[in-house]
Amino acid sequence: MKLVRYGPPGQEKPGLIDAEGQLRDLSSLACDIGPDQLGDAALEALRRHDASALPAVEGSPRLGSPLTGVRKFIAIGLNYADHAAESGLPIPAEPVVFMKATSCIQGPDDAVMLPRASVKTDWEVELGVVIGTRARYVDESEALNHVAGYCTINDISEREYQIERGGTWDKGKGCDTFGPLGPWLVTRDEVPDPQNLGMWLDVNGRRMQTGSTRTMIFSVAKIVSYVSEFMTLEPGDVITTGTPPGVGLGMKPPVYLQAGDTMALGIDGLGEQRQVVVAFRR
Ligand code: ZN
Repeated sequence: MKLVRYGPPGQEKPGLIDAEGQLRDLSSLACDIGPDQLGDAALEALRRHDASALPAVEGSPRLGSPLTGVRKFIAIGLNYADHAAESGLPIPAEPVVFMKATSCIQGPDDAVMLPRASVKTDWEVELGVVIGTRARYVDESEALNHVAGYCTINDISEREYQIERGGTWDKGKGCDTFGPLGPWLVTRDEVPDPQNLGMWLDVNGRRMQTGSTRTMIFSVAKIVSYVSEFMTLEPGDVITTGTPPGVGLGMKPPVYLQAGDTMALGIDGLGEQRQVVVAFRR
């Protein structure tokens, strides 16, 4: 299933995209798409329902984040060897883990706002993993059974805040609008191999990132297992799994986002995002 939330910010309704690409209203079956809807039984109940019997939604409403109620937004750094190289950093011996503030989560096509006085805001197309059932010290062989599904994420990053302001990376990762999720939450039955997904990102129509989850250093199963050693993963938690090469930081000289720029990005089977970059406003 391709689950969505549609409507104005803060008033999104649950929906799904049917096999013909039609948006349909799921309100009669689910109050929202969040932690309580992501377990195997809840998803199976939705899947058994005849999607063509659900009301079609007219027009092209805004899409919000395809899930709400995210309690942890966890990120993996330097998970592609060639991205580590362009960042001038060694390939990590263990996954680099940091947190993005959940307040940065927004819809896939909502505007991205430069933080106040930012000069180094950058892009990162990434595979997002949405946890469906609680995972704690889970074995790698069992880890994917705890995944509800996958989504496209732009792990937007302010490099000065991340790298030059001291301490952890988190300062440059959680600014408002830095976490576009979606358009869809694609349930894991439709993603048989998360390690074989092509991904891309354009800025102003120019291809910047081309990659595949094939070249991850640590697989999705390894990441879920690894993170579950350090914190309990709960339904609705999101893990963004690192970016392939081609970020602005890695260009010579580096290239960063300006107000008026547009980003477009996508991952095979998970849909595409498009964001306009806007100047800071209160
Ligand atoms: Zn990232």
